[in-house]
Amino acid sequence: MTKKERALKVCELLKIDYPDAVCQLNAETPFQLLVATRLSAQCTDARVNLVTPALFERYPTENELAEAEITDVENYIHSCGFYHGKARDLVGMAKAVRDIYGGVLPDTIEELTKLPGVGRKTANLIMGDVYKQPAVVADTHLIRITNLLGLVSTKDPKKVELELKKILPSEESNDFCHRIVLHGRAICIARRPKCDVCNLKSVCKSYKV
Ligand code: SF4
Repeated sequence: MTKKERALKVCELLKIDYPDAVCQLNAETPFQLLVATRLSAQCTDARVNLVTPALFERYPTENELAEAEITDVENYIHSCGFYHGKARDLVGMAKAVRDIYGGVLPDTIEELTKLPGVGRKTANLIMGDVYKQPAVVADTHLIRITNLLGLVSTKDPKKVELELKKILPSEESNDFCHRIVLHGRAICIARRPKCDVCNLKSVCKSYKV
């Protein structure tokens, strides 16, 4: 089985278990999704979802956040960790979106990654979820599980992204990433994967009886 064939089969099997492929971060606008994604670095989505309701009530759009005191933003996001850098980035990205992009998120990875604190992972999430473009969000679940499956053999996020873009059907790649996150939480849990009940075991290179 080639990697492309394996990738296609994994897509099909994941769809069965996780028909609704959605981002786990709560947000009502593209800008809020950008904020939530920045907060999710080295933090769980569940924690981010606890923090963002109050943050978005106080600062609902880039216009309010661009004028915020960084120390005030820190108070809202403290529990997400790395809050000094994250608060500085949130205010910086709000200013950039308001002043450079006229309130509309850029629609290329190159432009998105010019925003403060926005790396390829965040940029891909915006490209996929907001602009419905082929995207691969190389987060820890995706890197770990696609290595286990034998789809990639690197831990480097950019290489994982580019390798998966070559073998995944472009119209499937964004949903594939959301589904892998769900699979990583439910079945292929780090250090204690439930291989015996895994729907992917027939195509997984790491399946252990
Ligand atoms: S068979 Fe095991 S290692 Fe492979 S994806 Fe499933 S749970 Fe993970």
